[in-house]
Amino acid sequence: MSFDTSVDTLANVITIVALMRFPLPLTTKIAGYMIAQKLRGTKKFATVLQLEPLHTCNLTCTGCGRIREYSTSLKDMMSLEDCLGAAEECNAPMISICGGEPLIYPHIEALVKGLLEQKRIVYICTNAMFMRKKMREWLASRVSTQKEFVESKITALVQAGLISEKDATEIRKGPKDPAKPTIGPSTWMYWNVHLDGLERIHDLIVEREGVFKECILAIKMAKILGYQVATNTTIYKETDMQEVEQMFDYLSDLGVDGHTISPGYEYDAAKKDMVKRLNLQPENFFLTRKMTIEKFQKIEEWMQRYNLFGTPVYFEFLAGKRDLTCSAWAIPTRNIRGWKGPCYLMTDAHYSSYAELLEKTQWERYGVVNGVARDSRCENCMVHCGYEPTASLGLQAQRGDTWKTVKFNFGPKPKPTGLGSEVLAFNGVTSGNGHLTGKRAEASAQAS
Ligand code: SF4
Ligand code: SF4
Repeated sequence: MSFDTSVDTLANVITIVALMRFPLPLTTKIAGYMIAQKLRGTKKFATVLQLEPLHTCNLTCTGCGRIREYSTSLKDMMSLEDCLGAAEECNAPMISICGGEPLIYPHIEALVKGLLEQKRIVYICTNAMFMRKKMREWLASRVSTQKEFVESKITALVQAGLISEKDATEIRKGPKDPAKPTIGPSTWMYWNVHLDGLERIHDLIVEREGVFKECILAIKMAKILGYQVATNTTIYKETDMQEVEQMFDYLSDLGVDGHTISPGYEYDAAKKDMVKRLNLQPENFFLTRKMTIEKFQKIEEWMQRYNLFGTPVYFEFLAGKRDLTCSAWAIPTRNIRGWKGPCYLMTDAHYSSYAELLEKTQWERYGVVNGVARDSRCENCMVHCGYEPTASLGLQAQRGDTWKTVKFNFGPKPKPTGLGSEVLAFNGVTSGNGHLTGKRAEASAQAS
């Protein structure tokens, strides 16, 4: 190995080590994996697997492409063996379990357990509606071995209004099926809660009243029990970025560990649904590239103030300060039909293996290069799953990127802003397809 190569490798190593504002063991795990791939000379490899065990969901969010694209196979689901096999096959260090709503998957506990045994970092991407139930089940599983701990947590949760006396009684009875695994707190696992705004906007987007409130209760309960919690937010044309900022203030004060934020992509299936079912025009909802750049003007300020998961290079891209090309092969999606190509968002084929996805996808046909879309469907895409790997793997590195990333990731984790109490998070409720119920913000706040 020449000196130059060594220096390059060292620079890449440092970039990689500094990948995210994660706890050190997780950063080390990801770094070790990526360094090994680089040293082996592997050109394309998976960093995150988007695993969709099923597409069933209890909600019908307005911009969701999944439940529309796979509307004919909503009852189908992957077997536990297939799910665990997919993680082994692509070997990504991080697994994002999404869907559909993964907490509906009947083997979710065994899946999380299996992935943790495989030493993966696990994200459970959820709309939070079943999170408190899953956490009560975990607490019940501790009764026989950690009685005092369970009692202290029950007291705290009842006092905070996060469980009822009836729930407490059920927990004290212990698990219904002691042999069934539960989802407990772990350094290696995050609840990743979908939140697209404060109460009014979030409930409008998910098309159901009360979802925001449940998300907040679930987050509070998770923090009391010692879980790690992240949130993921999609930005649409109508998103008020001032409100997103307030939401981060509010969430950081709740002790949320980190946030991902990504511009909304105009899924074909979501667009058709919008026209047919809601009589809305997609161009009024989804972002063009120009609009994305306008929306993300403050992202670099936010990355200092909030614990955003990502790299400064990707944030510069979102703010329109540099160009990146797409590396969708690094964040593959596996679902009931196979390995989805070319990416999480677009479907041209499903393949039987990750190797086949890599081999048969004509990657040079996708993405935007020098402002020109190779595929017209990519034109407005700047999403995390296509462009973040380009940044984090240093595939278009510029001078200074390495140290910028090191500084960002090894700098102090932003403290809670302390502004959460000033935020009117429960700012009114909506129902149905976004029609105001008439319940005023103050009434909603009092009810919270
Ligand atoms: S919760 Fe997620 S999977 Fe369910 S409809 Fe909403 S965006 Fe789609
Ligand atoms: S740019 Fe990449 S991630 Fe975005 S739609 Fe095209 S292939 Fe998919």
